Amino acid sequence: MPLSGDLFIGTSRARTAATFRAVAPATGQPLEPAFAGAGTEEVDRACRLAARAFTGYRALAPDERARFLEAIADAIMGLGDELIERAHLESALPRERLSGERGRTVNQLRLFADELRAGGWLGLRIDPALPERTPLPRPDLRQRRIPLGPVAVFGASNFPLAFSVAGGDTAAALAAGCPVVAKGHPAHPGTGELVAQAIVAAARDCNMPEGVFSLLNGESHELGAALVAHPAIRAVGFTGSRRGGLALVKIASERPEPIPVYAEMSSVNPVLLLPGALERRAEAIAEGYVASLTLGVGQFCTNPGLVFGIAGPALDRFASAAAGALAGIAPGTMLTAGIHAAYEEGVRRLRQHPRVELLAEGTEPAGPACGRAALFAVAGEDLAADPSLAEEVFGPSSLIVRCRDADELLALVTGLEGQLTMTLHLEDSDEALAARLLPALEQKAGRIIANGWPTGVEVAHAMVHGGPFPATSDGRTTSVGTLAIERFLRPVCYQNLPQALLPPELRDDAPPRPRRVDGAWRLD
Ligand code: NAP
Repeated sequence: MPLSGDLFIGTSRARTAATFRAVAPATGQPLEPAFAGAGTEEVDRACRLAARAFTGYRALAPDERARFLEAIADAIMGLGDELIERAHLESALPRERLSGERGRTVNQLRLFADELRAGGWLGLRIDPALPERTPLPRPDLRQRRIPLGPVAVFGASNFPLAFSVAGGDTAAALAAGCPVVAKGHPAHPGTGELVAQAIVAAARDCNMPEGVFSLLNGESHELGAALVAHPAIRAVGFTGSRRGGLALVKIASERPEPIPVYAEMSSVNPVLLLPGALERRAEAIAEGYVASLTLGVGQFCTNPGLVFGIAGPALDRFASAAAGALAGIAPGTMLTAGIHAAYEEGVRRLRQHPRVELLAEGTEPAGPACGRAALFAVAGEDLAADPSLAEEVFGPSSLIVRCRDADELLALVTGLEGQLTMTLHLEDSDEALAARLLPALEQKAGRIIANGWPTGVEVAHAMVHGGPFPATSDGRTTSVGTLAIERFLRPVCYQNLPQALLPPELRDDAPPRPRRVDGAWRLD
């Protein structure tokens, strides 16, 4: 399907005088077509339409919403190679990787469809009336979760499909019964438009209310700010930089009626190499580390940016094997010129730090916006003296921290900011130390990994892609996996309502669904 560069306001298209073009990171050249930039008028139209759609959309049976999600997944697959080609052009990510990401995106939509039919997300609880109870009778209490209302979704540049227009936040919000107004990422507007075409076609085929989905593009922060400030928006899902996420949190909290912002932001994903594991397999761990660090030119929020070990010959073996492997890594084109410039600046800062040692760099860059891998080392006491060394450098750069002993390792981990993940490499002989570290790890991260690497996030029921601030703005939840639906729901209790007025799923004759009756779980 040809790209129009239009804005999608429900099923209508709109153009504006303000336009911008995507830039191909591999060449630095602008791409056709010109995309319309939304202003406050288009924000207002999309948000009002979403508010109108909400009444009908939230009232649909879960199965109808599930069929809509499945239709979106089918329509995305129906875009075929055109989607992969455009995403490749706009992001410089390899086609194979993008094809895997598309699979993840559609599987995510289908998983939420299954979740809708399973019904646990409704959070049904029934405490039947106890009229004979003394000294006071208990009323009949019934609880379910209802959707919040229209959700604004901001995707990141590094996942043009899985964390973008039809990514996890959109899937979770639509599943919950919330219309979505997506703010397209300016780095991949063509990819965003193709996906929007698929969503709009699915909405038409499934007779969804007009305005259940809109896509607004633009290059200025004002667009995102206006969207978050709009009174019709009831929640925000954001994936991107810490600065962007915090700006939106501030706007949302200063509204006359504040709303929640679920911002997934920065993380350095510390990896702890325990002594037994280092002693036994320092070289093999180093190989896995460099592969994880340099995957996708290091442009993953789960990139292992910080590695801790106890100083000694085994850690030296690890560092020298990692340096050897990294020195052979060819630089890859980064997502945008801005991300490349920020990466170069982060690496320059580490290179110039008087206490930081450069262990290795990848091979010389051969093209524009190429990110050259870099490996650094620092003593634990120097990290303690300058915690800014643990800040995210988005790209294939990582810092090995040589700790004096296990006590210093524990103290340094305890002093870190919140993270998406923490990883332990351990052998049986390390279990006592691991048990000592675990409470600190739980306090710091959303996911704890043993003998693996943080890159690669399974879309599943038990996944947590979240974590304490600044990994996210709200560490009580996740942006990946079925639990993500709960971000866009809130509980309502119905006290002594007549059966006819109760929502169908709370009536006495409701079909069996997971629920809690008088405190006891019933799964039939
Ligand atoms: P980004 O620059 O923050 O952009 C994300 C979105 O937010 C874009 O639509 C951007 O559009 C908008 N935005 C940014 N700053 C804004 C502001 N001040 N006001 C209003 N809107 C704003 O992030 P990115 O470069 O796409 O992604 C790279 C970053 O994302 C890395 O730091 C990475 O670690 C992080 N990330 C985190 C996760 C996670 O799950 N935690 C996943 C992937 C990536 P405009 O620029 O047009 O305003």
